[in-house]
Amino acid sequence: MTEALSRTHAIALDAADPLRALRNEFLIPKHKHNEQLYFVGNSLGLQPRGARAQVLEVMDKWANEAVEGHFTGASQWMTYHELVREPLARVVGAQPQEVVAMNSLTANLHLMMVSFYRPTRERPAILMEAGAFPSDRHALESQVRFHGFDPATDLIELEADEPNGTISMQAIERAIAEHGHRLALILWPGVQYRTGQAFDLGEIVRLGHAAGAVVGFDLAHAVGNLPLRLHDINADFAVWCHYKYLNSGPGAVAGCFVHTRHADTDRPRFAGWWGHDKHSRFRMGPEFLPTPGAEGWQLSNPPILGLAPLRASLDLFDRAGMEAIRVKSVQITGFLEALIRARIGDVLEIITPAEPSRRGAQLSLRVAGGRERGRELFDYLASVGTLGDWREPDVIRISPAPLYNRYMDVYRFVEEVEAWRGF
Ligand SMILES: *Cc1c(COP(=O)(O)O)cnc(C)c1O
Repeated sequence: MTEALSRTHAIALDAADPLRALRNEFLIPKHKHNEQLYFVGNSLGLQPRGARAQVLEVMDKWANEAVEGHFTGASQWMTYHELVREPLARVVGAQPQEVVAMNSLTANLHLMMVSFYRPTRERPAILMEAGAFPSDRHALESQVRFHGFDPATDLIELEADEPNGTISMQAIERAIAEHGHRLALILWPGVQYRTGQAFDLGEIVRLGHAAGAVVGFDLAHAVGNLPLRLHDINADFAVWCHYKYLNSGPGAVAGCFVHTRHADTDRPRFAGWWGHDKHSRFRMGPEFLPTPGAEGWQLSNPPILGLAPLRASLDLFDRAGMEAIRVKSVQITGFLEALIRARIGDVLEIITPAEPSRRGAQLSLRVAGGRERGRELFDYLASVGTLGDWREPDVIRISPAPLYNRYMDVYRFVEEVEAWRGF
């Protein structure tokens, strides 16, 4: 076996990893007496050690100060959502006034579409990917119907054109060329949840805008995974959740981006008091005057307990920096890929694109022999404390998260698959 695929090399990579100390900032679940090999940060990120203290701070403030907690101290609840604005902007490559943490992903998608999907008879259509995450499709289809249009003609779902179910940039370009004159909106994922494919978001914005469409993104699997430049690429809006790579806990408060050129938009929106101009909010007047920027789309005063863990998580992103996270991510996922190809290629076929620029942390692995064998392997891995997740009919997703996964975790995953197969 070549040196680059050896256990010694995995140990050396961990020793040289500039982010290795960050693993200690997370609570790693146990399997029997050992730490799990946890590769499901794309589904539910691990708990940062600091999260509990942030939640307890809110609980204590509530206990000790009750309603006064809205107005006292640096983490007063009145402006609590602003505490995460700047670190969040750094993670997604935005200006602070372009981002807000609020609601949940699908709720934010609907709110954004109220403002940014404005179909007309001439331009009624939305372009999306076929096989999108169901919630996105439900949201888009219901919006098309809500406006009185017909999803059969006006929800255009681009089929994969590459063998493993991935979509080429050429196919996207052709679809925009063909349907561009009818497109009101392009809604695209940053990273496709099933295949792990990452897209060139800047190019999609460029093509979409040239065709006269609005371009928005669902970044559920991209945020905290890839460095993003939402402002510079001119995206109109984006939504994402914080419980995957952002490690902020189950059902965590989600995120939303609105480009600064829409900060003072007179587009329609569904409004609520927390989106009203913060200087006059408590005059409790009847008229809605939006706060400029993404915060103007807030509806309610935010769930402070739900936001608290995000503060702890974003501290770690600031400590590491998205660029360094990405450097490790390319290396650790590349190491996993090389090991799979060299040692267990007869068991697992990688369907995620091989080019690092077309993927994030995740590799989607099709199990040879079909669903039953796939379930066998998956159940075996779970029984030895190695966690990926299962996607029907025959795919296991493995996502080494650069903040807490080690090269040795990846190495041991491959050893476990070998142990199951037999040498
Ligand atoms: C995880 C995920 C969701 C989940 O939506 P919620 O509103 O947070 O429940 C939606 N869309 C995509 C693409 C996802 O990956």
